[in-house]
Amino acid sequence: MIEILMIEDELEITELLSRFLAQYNMNVHGVQTPTSALNALKMDHYDLIILDLSLPEIDGLELCKIIRKSYDTPIIISTARGDLSDKVKGLEFGADDYLPKPYEPRELVARIQTVLRRYKTVESIHRDGDFSIDEDKMQIAKEDRV
Ligand code: CA
Repeated sequence: MIEILMIEDELEITELLSRFLAQYNMNVHGVQTPTSALNALKMDHYDLIILDLSLPEIDGLELCKIIRKSYDTPIIISTARGDLSDKVKGLEFGADDYLPKPYEPRELVARIQTVLRRYKTVESIHRDGDFSIDEDKMQIAKEDRV
């Protein structure tokens, strides 16, 4: 099961997407405010975060920056704000992808899978002294030579 934290103040969107993502072995935990998002991150491990930008309390971009300071969890920004500077800032603040609303839920699934695959590849490269082992490629390299 892939555990997803969805930070979104519109409950209908969270409900709709949770139902859809459940078909893909993805479990959505929905929170509506930045405070409850930070609490949730303290309490539990999540594989990925879906972050709306227009939130109560503080702006989603600010929240993205705060989360990135303490957590490596992949972040996908999902927003109705079509502003290019938001997109650029989001990526600069450590988001992994940016999805403008409205989008097809199927596209969200594809983006989630792509982001998680990228993280998995990074994690599967272990280092042991001069040697590194890449489990995905089944390769062992000495001093980065394959
Ligand atoms: Ca919103």
